[in-house]
Amino acid sequence: MSTLPHRILQVGAEVYPLVKTGGLGDVLGALPSALARLGLDVRLLLPGYPALRKPLTGVRSVCRLGPAFGAASVQVLLGRLPGLEVPVYLIEAPSLYERPGNPYLDGSGEGWADNPQRFGLLGWVAAYLALGDIDPAWRPQLVHGHDWHAGLASAFLALHPSTRCRSVFTVHNLAFHGLFPQALMPTLQLPESSFVSDGLEFHGEGSMIKAGLHYADAITTVSPSYAREIQTPAFGCGLEGVITQRRAQLHGILNGVDYAVWNSATDPRLETHFDARHPERKAAAKAALQRQLGLRVDPGAMLIGVVSRLTPQKGIDLLLEVLPALLNDNVQLALLGSGDADLEAACRALAVVAPGQIVARFDYDETLAHRIIAGVDVIAVPSRFEPCGLTQLYGLRYGSLPLVHRVGGLADTVVDADDKALAADTATGFVFDALTTTALEQAAQRALALYRQPDRWRQMMRRAMTQDFSWGGAAVAYADLYCRVLAAEPERWRPAASAA
Ligand code: ADP
Repeated sequence: MSTLPHRILQVGAEVYPLVKTGGLGDVLGALPSALARLGLDVRLLLPGYPALRKPLTGVRSVCRLGPAFGAASVQVLLGRLPGLEVPVYLIEAPSLYERPGNPYLDGSGEGWADNPQRFGLLGWVAAYLALGDIDPAWRPQLVHGHDWHAGLASAFLALHPSTRCRSVFTVHNLAFHGLFPQALMPTLQLPESSFVSDGLEFHGEGSMIKAGLHYADAITTVSPSYAREIQTPAFGCGLEGVITQRRAQLHGILNGVDYAVWNSATDPRLETHFDARHPERKAAAKAALQRQLGLRVDPGAMLIGVVSRLTPQKGIDLLLEVLPALLNDNVQLALLGSGDADLEAACRALAVVAPGQIVARFDYDETLAHRIIAGVDVIAVPSRFEPCGLTQLYGLRYGSLPLVHRVGGLADTVVDADDKALAADTATGFVFDALTTTALEQAAQRALALYRQPDRWRQMMRRAMTQDFSWGGAAVAYADLYCRVLAAEPERWRPAASAA
């Protein structure tokens, strides 16, 4: 009897373009559709934030539940969201999800106090969809949860006595754990027996990410290097023990890029377009960006861009330390970020010192993000750790050469412009090894030296712009993994893969 991994439920907390705080939203906006294009029957389960509930069309109520997880009532809806090629289940629980702003944080930047209930319910609905209790018309064979928000789905499934559904859990960022007090175990419908170190307990608290790591049938990270790194104390965030124990079930699958959204030749958020055949047309995007931001319009200035959450993870503090030394070399900086107040203050202070040369915008602005990534010469991602990183991948497609720390997905995706790579025409960016200002500055100086050689720079731009990180390959890797987890035969969808 065939056990084809036909019905796959993707579970997560954000989705591009409607609710996005970072790369997770981009992935959930693209991966389900890429899998569907392979022939898999994929659906997506999300919390019913107003930003998702309003545009949901063709809405059908599939289940009404009584009070649960602190909500007076819960309803599961099925419908369609613009831009997504797969049906979407939304959990309507107004007291949990209908609130303004960031999906995870309150107005003062703290996690919502009831996040355990909000995302516990997400995992619970995922599991009970798989158990057939929520939508008898569609019962997934495999639940694929993303980050801690979906971690409990794997626990509910593994702890249920009669489920045959399997789960895959993807770590997009191990730094966020989804901790909750033991006292919430009954509210979260979790058995006390799971509150042990060989379960979801983590230093006296419950941990949703540990639930995913411990109970999922397979674990993935969003790059191969990150899969190796998180087995070590330096990157394991205290979870390296459980991860090492599960090493045989751990896989690194590099994220893809949605080139329908991030493509310098067609990007509707740009006024001018360019591609590898006409990299010189990028100059117009650079001049437009300089004008828009109030930078000196100077084609000769090497313009560095940053589009990032402002957190210590991203290493922006290192870049700010190095910049003053580069200013005499006609370097500019365009930064778009939001987050840490201290980092914002440091950016502001530098912008005051070098008006027309350094501009920082503290906002979350999708259009400006595209224009910066298109208009700069160099996109800087000097992260301390980076599970995959998407901005460097976007930079490559826009001929904005990445300046990155050799870590995680950055190490897996950028080829350093050392002598050998330059001679072989394989270089796509500037990679530094030691996490020091000296190493970062040396890499920036190497970029500057090449920037002063326009022919060689253009050659590297072409090489960067022709890299292919489309979702097709990643989707096949996930589909292969689903097959292995279900011990199923992958051949049926393989022919469609080449067409994707
Ligand atoms: P992370 O998920 O850790 O934030 P990634 O590089 O994987 O980092 O993904 C970041 C995504 O968020 C990219 O799509 C990037 O363009 C976007 N982004 C980050 N900061 C901003 C911002 N301030 N405004 C608009 N988009 C942003």
